[in-house]
Parts: sequence; structure tokens; C-alpha cells
Amino acid sequence: MASNFDGLSRRDFVLASAGGLLGAAMSATPSVAQASASAGTGAGVAQNGTPQEVRAIGRPMPELENPLPLPPDQRVGWAIVGLGDFALNQILPAIGDTRMCRLSAVVSGNADKAREVARAYGVAPSSVYSYEDFDRIRDNPDVQVVYVILPNALHRDWTLRAAGAGKHVLCEKPMAVSVEDCRAMIQACRAAGRKLMIAYRAQFEPHALLARQMITEGRIGDVQSIAGEHGRMLELDKPRDQWRARQELAGGGSLYDIGIYNINTARFLLGREPVEVTATLRRADDPRITVETGVDYAMRFEDGTRSSFNSSYEYKNTKRLQVMGTEGTIELDPATEYYGNRLLLKTEQAVEQREIRPTNQFASEMDHFAECVMHDRDPRTPGEEGMRDVAIMQAIYEAARTGRPVEVPRMA
Ligand code: NDP
Repeated sequence: MASNFDGLSRRDFVLASAGGLLGAAMSATPSVAQASASAGTGAGVAQNGTPQEVRAIGRPMPELENPLPLPPDQRVGWAIVGLGDFALNQILPAIGDTRMCRLSAVVSGNADKAREVARAYGVAPSSVYSYEDFDRIRDNPDVQVVYVILPNALHRDWTLRAAGAGKHVLCEKPMAVSVEDCRAMIQACRAAGRKLMIAYRAQFEPHALLARQMITEGRIGDVQSIAGEHGRMLELDKPRDQWRARQELAGGGSLYDIGIYNINTARFLLGREPVEVTATLRRADDPRITVETGVDYAMRFEDGTRSSFNSSYEYKNTKRLQVMGTEGTIELDPATEYYGNRLLLKTEQAVEQREIRPTNQFASEMDHFAECVMHDRDPRTPGEEGMRDVAIMQAIYEAARTGRPVEVPRMA
């Protein structure tokens, strides 16, 4: 039976047990029906009594769990800007799991690394760009989408450059460091007639999709409150965290980096918007870190639902969300990991852990945008979605600065 939500079907939801916890695996058992079809000759008898030839023979297409991928020449071509930790460890490998995307170009300030990566992924040397000669990408018909994976403060300029070169843009979160920058990005893409999507991978992750479905179906009654914690340690010996520690490149600290997941995922799960925020924040006594390290923040939603969140660079990897309703609770712990997320539904009748067949959320996200480009559709997480989160985070900083509740500005 098809579900109401993209990317999830009934067979993805295997209920393990009630009353206790259980981890029933959900992967389908591989068929062994063809196991004896090895090379050679002979005859056997199938279970239904029909004689079977014991030799290698062709069979019709099996029932496919996913449609076949598009042939390479029909896929949407992507350029990746910034070959850092996230691009190299998650995004480039994930392109191989997509159905509709191919890597067509790379853009980097390190020519040796760019050449090595291009060679490994089969990108033509002529499609390797530096930051200086990027604008010639305009003449590369193999590139339809530019994916901006740079430090936050550079998202605006690179989105503008990509749109100016006639390309659609997928931009990493947070969309930009200010609402003004977000607005400029939306306007630039609109003026160029190009699509803009913000890379909220959690909205393509099957546990989050299932949680949203359960909430919509009323499985935990009326939602009253949502709590969330997102934290990781800053590792200043790693290049990826050196710019995160600097206000001028990161735009904000733990809130912009990971606290954004509390906000965006809560908005996604509830389908409601916060109208007021309160906050306090903490800074480290370390001159190398000019961003805030921790924020405690609460939001009041339009219908009165409340949330209580924190983001932190002071504790080890935690990515947890809990949605409390009048008839039960949904716990996502972890909620926003790359892999291995878990969903626990607690009601008076049962405690159920749902294990869902792992899917690659990065691939689903990229395929969604490719589909939007191919069929001229609006992306599920457009620039306006990213701008709203930036506006909420700015209100949180303002609330922390003034020590008063701050209204979240309404966005046109
Ligand atoms: P890294 O520091 O690992 O990579 C950033 C890359 O940007 C660098 O390797 C470099 O690429 C390029 N760059 C250009 N100018 C600068 C500069 N002045 N300082 C530092 N790097 C520069 O960061 P991440 O990959 O972890 O993060 C990049 C973006 O991706 C951020 O916006 C982050 O929020 C987002 N992100 C999103 C995640 C998600 O789950 N959606 C997870 C992790 C990050 P080169 O050497 O090729 O020039």
C-alpha cells in the first residue's frame, strides 16, 4: 500500500514488538528461488510439479523495489563547489546511489585535490574549475545544478554566481548568515529563472517522514510540546571546524551549525510555525572561538505548541528529538544522523520501535532536486524555507541578547 509521504511505503515499516523493545530487522530476505540455477544441464522439478531445466537461463524482470536508474546521458549533471569534509565523505559517494544525478564538474581552491577527485569520479579535466575561473561553467552544458558546500558566509555569493551562470542551485544549510543574504539569493535565482533549494536532508530521511506521518494520523493525539538536543564537540585541530569557530565565516555557532536541525525538523514534523522565541547563550573562554558555543532556546508555535531546545559545542554527538502528545510520545534518537536513526513510539498500549530499511537521504534529496529540474517542479525545501530558519535563528540571537521574548518576523 502506498504511503502519503514520498519515499516511504508500507513495507518500509516493520513493527518489531509491543510492550518491550525489539529490533526486528526489516530488510527483506533475499530470494533463494534461483539458487540452483547455476551453469550446467539437467532437470529438476519445481515445487508446483513443473519440470525445470537445470541450466543458466534468462528470466523476466523481477518485481523492482526501486525503479531502474536513468541512463547516464539522461541524468541531471551536477557541479560540486567546495571539496571539503562533507562533500568528499558524504555527497560525492552518495551521487552513486542516486537514480537521476551524475557528477559533471568539481570546483575547488586546491587544484591538486580537485584533479585527484575528478580523476577518481571520471570528471573530465576541462570540467575542473577553480574559484577564479568558475564563471566559465556557464558554457558547460553538462552542468545543470551547482551544489554549494562552502562555509556558511560564502553561500550567498556562490549562489549568486551560480545563478548568474545560468545554473540551478542546491545550497547547504544554513542557507546564509543573514535574512538579507537569503533574500538576495532568492531574488537572484528568480531573476535568472533558476531553481533554488536548501539541503535539508532530514526532510528526506525515512524516520522523520514516518514520524511526520504518525503525527498527522494522530497516533500520539494532539501534540503539545517538542524537545530537542543537538550537540557535537568542536575539534579545532580539524580544518572543517576551524571556520566553524569564526563568526565571519560561520555567521553563528552551534545554533547555525546543528541547532538548526531542532528548528527545521520541528517545523517539518509539526507543520506549524513558531511565532515567539526566548533564549540564553554561552560563549567559550577561548580566543580561537568567536561564535557562541551553546544556546538554550524555547519557541512558542502559532497554535500554542511549545518547544524546548538546545544546541551545543560542549557535549559529544547528540541528535535527539521528542514529540509529546496527549496520547503518546515519539522519540527520535538519534533523529538526524547520516545513518542509524531510530524511532520509538510510546503510547499507553505499547512501546514500539520502528526499524526502517536504510536509504541514502543524500541521494533522495539530490534525486528530488533533479526531478524538480527535469520536470520543472518546485522543490520541497526552497529558498523561502531556508530564509525562515535564518529569521528564526536571528530572533533567537536577539532574544538572548536582550533577555526578552522576541517575535519571529512574518515572512512575505
Ligand atoms: P569543510 O571545512 O570540510 O569544507 C569546506 C570547503 O569549502 C573547504 O574544503 C574548501 O574547499 C572550501 N572553502 C572555500 N573557502 C573556504 C574558506 N575560506 N575556509 C574554509 N573552507 C573554504 O566544511 P564542511 O564540508 O563540513 O561544511 C561545508 C558546508 O556544508 C557548511 O555550510 C556546512 O554547514 C554544510 N554541512 C552540511 C551537513 C549536512 O548534513 N547537511 C553536514 C556537514 C556540513 P576546497 O579545498 O575544495 O577549496
